[in-house]
Amino acid sequence: MQQAPTLDSNRRRLAELTRRPWRMLVGGAMVDARGGERYTTTSPADGQPLAEVPFAQKADVEAAVQAAERAYPTWRDTPLSQRVAVLRRFIAVLEQNEADLALLDAADLGSPFSSMRSDVHLACELLDYICNAAGEVKGQNLPGSGGNWHITKREPYGVVGRIIPFNHPLMFAASKIGAPLVMGNTVVLKVPDQTPLSPLYMGELIREVFPPGVINVISGDGRTTGDALVRHPRIKRIALTGSVETGRLIQRAAAEVMVKHVSLELGGKNPMVVFPDADIDKAVEGAARGMNFHWSQGQSCGSTTRLFLHEDIHDDFVQRLKKRVERIVIGNPLDPATEMGCVVSKAQYDKASRYIALGLEQGATCLTGGRPPEGAEFAQGYFLRPTVFTAVRNDMRIAKEEIFGPVLSVLKWSDEDAVVREANHVEYGLTAAVWTRDIHKAFRTIDRLEAGFTWINGSSSHFKGVPFGGYKNSGVDNEEGIEELYSYTQLKTVNIILS
Ligand code: NAD
Repeated sequence: MQQAPTLDSNRRRLAELTRRPWRMLVGGAMVDARGGERYTTTSPADGQPLAEVPFAQKADVEAAVQAAERAYPTWRDTPLSQRVAVLRRFIAVLEQNEADLALLDAADLGSPFSSMRSDVHLACELLDYICNAAGEVKGQNLPGSGGNWHITKREPYGVVGRIIPFNHPLMFAASKIGAPLVMGNTVVLKVPDQTPLSPLYMGELIREVFPPGVINVISGDGRTTGDALVRHPRIKRIALTGSVETGRLIQRAAAEVMVKHVSLELGGKNPMVVFPDADIDKAVEGAARGMNFHWSQGQSCGSTTRLFLHEDIHDDFVQRLKKRVERIVIGNPLDPATEMGCVVSKAQYDKASRYIALGLEQGATCLTGGRPPEGAEFAQGYFLRPTVFTAVRNDMRIAKEEIFGPVLSVLKWSDEDAVVREANHVEYGLTAAVWTRDIHKAFRTIDRLEAGFTWINGSSSHFKGVPFGGYKNSGVDNEEGIEELYSYTQLKTVNIILS
């Protein structure tokens, strides 16, 4: 029987895993950048170097696109059932290597090993949904004119460029290539700058699962590698999961080259509105879990980072919430017992710290957190406690801007119309939550909140096959549901003239 992993066994295994030569998957081979360019990825838990990985330049992006183009005609013409069978083998490989992939994420990202194991499972579930749903993507037979036939069919785009952010490296690397591949496209995946290890390792593991060139996995930064992919003149379909700023840059860069289908899953500053009749115990738990402290140290696009509490319940609620978040066990991300690790980088740590200082300067009250945990084990890493600000006003920067760290802003409300206006008063529109036992209030409020993915008496969770996407500056298009599969096809109409 296999022993359960411990901090020591995880450290040993990580040392073995990171010793490998880190390479990119291009055209079925593991390759370096042609000019030998590399960069170092470091552990956010102690600032130490973890590995050197290839830094793909324009020529490397070109090689990856050419490999994907060569593979495309055969992959497109492969029967759907066989493409699904390949994806199912991909799922099996992820399952077999779950602990190693989670370990690389824990080390590179700083999220707890246990939650990164859940990320591998989540990726497998999302891929399983994609396999099951693929056969539902169909054309139609339309009554366009008497005597003739009019049919539509769905065709792949060709080579798809897929760009992902740092916060769930393996989960995004694996699940976001499923829909384009199953629809018959080939893919060049650009992995996150800060957390390249699990996606590159995934590339190595699946080298023989996919025919050469069907999936290509390259590492590098946004400005060189990502930009070259976006601007590639033979890539019509680009998909980004990332920040609003990057989304806008990509839309502009793509438009400078040609007309492209660019789908965007971007940031959020998401409201959770609690009515006085809500189940308070559950809502406190929902507010804590909604911040995703345990999953990503608050570095999640869908985190409910603005908590609107009705004045009748405010004081009691915040005291309970304080107790709840202070119970979260902060520790070494490699330790299976850790519930919350560290943020991904010095840049992210400095950003969150600046916002904490700004909250205090602008007159908010720091109810808990606001500084790193004490102890020698935290001294060299980018650790922050779960931080809760009360007395936040809607015009403060901590209430308007995405911090992408463990910082929650609590706002007090009394008037229903006003709270909806305040909740909507940001550029984002990704998620929103409403907590009440009154179904009329729940639907009335959800209907008026400007967000693409909402919960009534819930937070944080995604559900298999249920579409996720943002309103306003939070994005374009939806993922995780059947719409994502459609989005990797283009519609061809065939008119059969019989009369
Ligand atoms: P980011 O926008 O800085 O980077 C995302 C990816 O884009 C990276 O791979 C990066 O190298 C690449 N990139 C950056 N500039 C580029 C350019 N000019 N051209 C091409 N590619 C470029 O985001 P991040 O810091 O990695 O992740 C955090 C952001 O992602 C947050 O805003 C978060 O809300 C968002 N996010 C959104 C979702 C969602 O589903 N809506 C999910 C996770 C994260």
